[in-house]
Amino acid sequence: MIEKVLVANRGEIAVRIIRACKEMGIATVAVYSTADEEALHVQLADEAVCIGSPLPKNSYLNIENIISAAVLTGCDALHPGFGFLSENAKFAEICEKCGITFIGPTGEMIRLMGDKAKAREMMIAAGVPVVPGSEGKIDDLEEAMCLADRIGYPVILKAAAGGGGRGMRIVWKKEEFEKAFLSASSEAENAFGDGSMYLEKYIQNPRHIEFQILSDAYGNVVHLGERDCSLQRRHQKVMEEAPSPFLNNDMRKRMGEIAVTAAKAVNYQNAGTIEFIVDASGEFYFIEMNTRIQVEHPITEIVTGIDLIKAQIKIAAKEPLAVKQKDIHIKGHAIECRINAENPLLNFKPCAGTIEELYLPGGRGVRIESALYESYKVPPTYDSMLAKVITFGDTREEAIAIMKRALGEIVIEGIETNVFFQYQLLNEAAFVEGKFDTSFIERNLETIL
Ligand code: ADP
Repeated sequence: MIEKVLVANRGEIAVRIIRACKEMGIATVAVYSTADEEALHVQLADEAVCIGSPLPKNSYLNIENIISAAVLTGCDALHPGFGFLSENAKFAEICEKCGITFIGPTGEMIRLMGDKAKAREMMIAAGVPVVPGSEGKIDDLEEAMCLADRIGYPVILKAAAGGGGRGMRIVWKKEEFEKAFLSASSEAENAFGDGSMYLEKYIQNPRHIEFQILSDAYGNVVHLGERDCSLQRRHQKVMEEAPSPFLNNDMRKRMGEIAVTAAKAVNYQNAGTIEFIVDASGEFYFIEMNTRIQVEHPITEIVTGIDLIKAQIKIAAKEPLAVKQKDIHIKGHAIECRINAENPLLNFKPCAGTIEELYLPGGRGVRIESALYESYKVPPTYDSMLAKVITFGDTREEAIAIMKRALGEIVIEGIETNVFFQYQLLNEAAFVEGKFDTSFIERNLETIL
């Protein structure tokens, strides 16, 4: 069994992991940058080690310092959270070489799925439907343009090493192709150190529906149903819900089975997410696999009753899965709103500042994941997500009503947030009816604001 975990992250996810460890009787070590000396995760962990200056490359991305902290404090495992080093194959391998169990899949798996063009190829081989597009990477502009002609415009250019919506360009017509290709590729080169691109048909106004997977070291794989993450801005998720109001039971079953097939085909281990886009006719296509815990994991925990962080730790400790597919039942409805430090009226400009007054809602049907407290100084250096408000009820209507009530109660003074924007989104008729797609927010920004 695992006895001491280093939490290689910050913010609400670090707090979430520390809490799960405590409940399992596992000791925790937090790491922090000099900007995070006062952070909640540092206060909640049993021990804390400073790993460098505020810039991520000096601290939360600093492999040497993090591994040293783990070794010096005698950790036998490490949880990477999301973002930062969570999808860094080399980091996972170094952990294992140092005798520290990486709570996640193997480095090899992270590398395979992190190359999204390669992942596409593997999924094609496994019989998983993918969006029509290039076989693998495209390195030749001419060839890419021929392919785009063949599959028909619009197409979407994507960075093989991409993530967070970067290195992606939608191309509506041939004349725009060359410019888009060169700019996306150089953006990818800058962001990921790899400018290789691949190409997909651009599916207009799809839904983004993803399946949560759990796989143990013995080849057992289950899926925990889906999350609908269609409410996005600039390809980034804003609000998520489970189950999806778009899927009927037949589609849910088919997509779940395909997600399990996909995880089995690559011999996946630990928690993972298979992301699909679904067109208006209900055709679904694999777009990528995420090899980490996701921001939106709590909504799945609520509708399945399974603690995903604890499941990850148990899988890493080589325990077999405690559940079979037939034991998993989706009950009720859950919604998550991401509360960001940003100003929706200034084009969602991120901001920093001191939390002068804070009231986080509670009551029946509300779960809060946050690392905020009164007088906490939100540093300007990191992701703008401050907290997650998750609500749940027997029905979607109830979960929405509780979310409105909860957002109405929130007080976060001293810093701009998107709380009102989220509240407005809940009032949109299309949202209430469950009829929205990935470009809904962008198309309706004016009215939502
Ligand atoms: P990232 O890893 O950068 O998040 P993804 O491949 O997961 O990139 O895609 C992010 C979002 O971009 C999807 O949720 C969807 O909204 C949109 N998208 C991706 N591929 C397509 C496509 N082929 N057609 C239409 N939209 C797409």
